[in-house]
Amino acid sequence: MTQGARLPTLVIGGGIGGLTAALALARAGRPVHVVEKSVEFGEIGAGLQLAPNAMQVLDRLGLLLEIDKHAVYPSRLVWMDAIAATRITEIDLGEAFKRRYRHPYIVMHRGDLLSVLLAACRAESRIALETRRDVIAIDDLGDSAVARCADGTVYETDLLVGADGLHSTARRLFSDDAPIHDGYVAYRGTIPMERLSAHAGLDNVVMWVGPEMHFVQYPVRRGELYNQVAVFRSQRYTPLSEDWGTAEELDAHYAQTCDYVRGCVSQMWRDRRWLMTDRKPIARWTRKRIALLGDAAHPMYQYIAQGACQAIEDALVLATHVAAAPGDLPAALAGYEHARTRRTARVQITARAMGAFFHLDGMGALLRNEMMAARSSTDYSMLDWLYGHQV
Ligand SMILES: Cc1cc2nc3c(=O)[nH]c(=O)nc-3n(C[C@H](O)[C@H](O)[C@H](O)COP(=O)(O)OP(=O)(O)OC[C@H]3O[C@@H](n4cnc5c(N)ncnc54)[C@H](O)[C@@H]3O)c2cc1C
Repeated sequence: MTQGARLPTLVIGGGIGGLTAALALARAGRPVHVVEKSVEFGEIGAGLQLAPNAMQVLDRLGLLLEIDKHAVYPSRLVWMDAIAATRITEIDLGEAFKRRYRHPYIVMHRGDLLSVLLAACRAESRIALETRRDVIAIDDLGDSAVARCADGTVYETDLLVGADGLHSTARRLFSDDAPIHDGYVAYRGTIPMERLSAHAGLDNVVMWVGPEMHFVQYPVRRGELYNQVAVFRSQRYTPLSEDWGTAEELDAHYAQTCDYVRGCVSQMWRDRRWLMTDRKPIARWTRKRIALLGDAAHPMYQYIAQGACQAIEDALVLATHVAAAPGDLPAALAGYEHARTRRTARVQITARAMGAFFHLDGMGALLRNEMMAARSSTDYSMLDWLYGHQV
């Protein structure tokens, strides 16, 4: 049964991408209806790094004051060798960085960011939010789109935004590709700050790199919790089974790392693991009245911490194009696609390449360390295209 009148905008998925898009579109004057399949809006997982390219969008949406209540402003991004326990290089996130990119680099609990976005959406009269709506099929009717949910609810809309993540239903309209796994898996979680042993740089984002592994640490929730993500490549990986990447393999892989890293990994949550996954870039992700956004459009490895940042960028660009041509949605969506596909493809490919760079072993690792040691902590030249992008 069709749910009420034809909707001006339907956003499928109430994650970081979907809620930011709803907010940006509503602020641009468009009524928005968001459907989320879970029982409630929320984020599983722990920390999130937000670079200046995403912060400029959150600033434009007027969210920085609220975000500031939860954020931590790290001093540096530090790369460490996980075996030798030596510093490889670092990026200074201080005044020079902020001046260059006009916004800071922050870390926060992802649940806190979702709460800020949700509160802003709830305060916006143009936004309606619904949970327990699992969209299982989408029809493109040319001058409208129809979304069908598992419970029989049907929505017709002028503009459908598929922000439904890695396993997107909306993406099937554009590609029959499948997520790509290469045997990497992540364990993640937070521990109270007071459980940490003294270690230089608890206010930094620290990335320990080693053979087919990396381990990321940073404080969240105003410094009360310490977020940790342990990534490694399972030797038992096979696409035909789920029995790989176990907690025993995590310990066995990290047995080669220095005492400090091993000690931290022993405190990781072990009840859930995340498969590291991406897809190849696709050239088209809009048609007439339908657009993809965030991981539905360009899922990427988390190795340069940009998946959510790119979803946030998408949201503002989409809203800007729709606001500029409200009477010609196909043209607006074509403009959005044109503005976003090259950039997000570059980020996807860079994330893959940086993963290979982190995970080097032997002579490759030695060369990487030597090469990186030569750079200054305020040499931002390789980051400009990413963090300095004007959305
Ligand atoms: C370990 C790890 C660490 C990461 N760290 C960072 C980081 O530091 N910085 C960063 O920028 N990115 C990071 N990312 C990436 C980031 O988490 C994702 O890119 C981001 O969450 C994508 O947001 P999204 O809204 O597009 O998709 P999702 O977060 O997947 O949200 C999709 C939403 O749609 C809903 N949904 C799905 N299907 C349907 C359906 N059929 N009907 C209705 N609703 C549906 C889901 O329930 C969900 O709420 C990390 C990822 C991982 C795995």
